[in-house]
Amino acid sequence: MVAFDSAAILARLAALRAGDAPTHGGHVLSYVYDSGVADVDELAAQAVRLVQPVNGLDPTTFTSVAVMEREVIGFARELLHGGDDVVGSVTTGGTESCLLAVKTARDVWRASGGVGRARLVAPVTVHAAFHKAAHYFDLELDLVPVDAATGAVDPVALIARLGLDVALAVVSAPSYPFAVLDPVEAVAEACEAAGIACHVDACIGGWILPFWRRADGAPLPLWDLRVPGVTSISADLHKFGYAPKGASVLLQRGRDRQRAQYFATTGWPGYPVVNATMLGSKSAGALAASWAIVQALGARGFAELAGSCVRATSAIADIIADIDGLRLVGDPVGPLLAVTTDDDVPADRQVDPHHWADQARKRGWLLQLQPGLVQSDGTRLPHTTHLTITPVTEERIDELETALRASADAVRGRPRADATAVLVGLPPELAQAPLTSDTAAAVLQSIGLGGSTDSTGARLPDEMAPFLALIEALPRPLTERLLTELLARIVEPPAD
Ligand SMILES: *Cc1c(COP(=O)(O)O)cnc(C)c1O
Repeated sequence: MVAFDSAAILARLAALRAGDAPTHGGHVLSYVYDSGVADVDELAAQAVRLVQPVNGLDPTTFTSVAVMEREVIGFARELLHGGDDVVGSVTTGGTESCLLAVKTARDVWRASGGVGRARLVAPVTVHAAFHKAAHYFDLELDLVPVDAATGAVDPVALIARLGLDVALAVVSAPSYPFAVLDPVEAVAEACEAAGIACHVDACIGGWILPFWRRADGAPLPLWDLRVPGVTSISADLHKFGYAPKGASVLLQRGRDRQRAQYFATTGWPGYPVVNATMLGSKSAGALAASWAIVQALGARGFAELAGSCVRATSAIADIIADIDGLRLVGDPVGPLLAVTTDDDVPADRQVDPHHWADQARKRGWLLQLQPGLVQSDGTRLPHTTHLTITPVTEERIDELETALRASADAVRGRPRADATAVLVGLPPELAQAPLTSDTAAAVLQSIGLGGSTDSTGARLPDEMAPFLALIEALPRPLTERLLTELLARIVEPPAD
């Protein structure tokens, strides 16, 4: 057996990890969902360890997988008020749940006589996972503009797009960019009348909205399986289920429609294949961790953690409303906030949300920059900064408040980043011909984004506002190509 030095290997890993954004402590207000309960993390780690060698591919060989999945699905079904005609799967994440919801709907639509290219109708705020799904499964993505001030979709406008070629309508509970709870009841009712599937993307809300309380005590409009026209719903365990990455639940109403999610083949000389989800061999780690956390917390534990998020979100919303030059977008439902410039105050008092986020980052707080977007009707959605609040946030509110206020003070009156100088410098032919990786890399270099790694790993620039301004200003296909090159070069071994 080869000799190896575990201590040295792990020491290098620890050194690399030290360069990561902190996953705990509430300083990163997206990507990570910290329950703030060390025992929950420890339980999850031990559960992962126990199933580490298991292959989640085959629950008949590794029977623990079937039991854990059944119990997690049972818990989720009760939480989201599904009856016993609701069945489901644990997937590897929100994207896989969304992909499978779309694939199922497309195949059900085809089986019921749909021909040609199916259409997917959703508000423009629908998660990018549905762009990916439409691309992978070849559906036309039909995005309905939302109100530019509130981020809310008009259900009448969405319903007007339904038709025979529509395989699926998607609404969110809530939407990621602006935390809007979409009009689930109105859309699902129209879908049911027209025989169209309706998916509720509760990837971020599914494990916390069941416990959400509005400031005025009013109940939320119905958004889950209590709404009869809802045919599927996704809810990520690796978000407000506090599980390690790699776990989400997809519930489907009706066994027969859910069977369209499966893939089975005996048409090869190897083992008979039957998979409910997209991967073949897969880890059971995140499932086991999710299962253990559900056992440990139960509805009461989730409710308690949600209560902390309710209080913290409302406190932070009040703080932001009180910062001169910033405002919240719309009427957020759930532990997410989108912040933009308050255009009602004079320019010298306005705060650009991206400069603000760059300042917060200098102070050790990572907020998420979201670009503006021109919708199909020509209206422009503002560029914003996103904050996801987790249970660990509550005990840090004073520190966070100090940083948010100081960051705003540092950039108040500063105009938003402008990409025109960079744009004029770019050769015009970039817009046409497909770029080779070398040309794309050269463009990245010319706009200051080349060679952006150091000895500990990938590095983006310290100021993200100019980068986001570029993303908004460049033609979409070019930006998408450049982003591809940027990420590819970050993980590639160096060329010599
Ligand atoms: C996170 C999220 C997704 C995609 O989930 P991943 O787990 O990142 O793949 C989809 N929809 C919404 C609303 C989300 O918040």
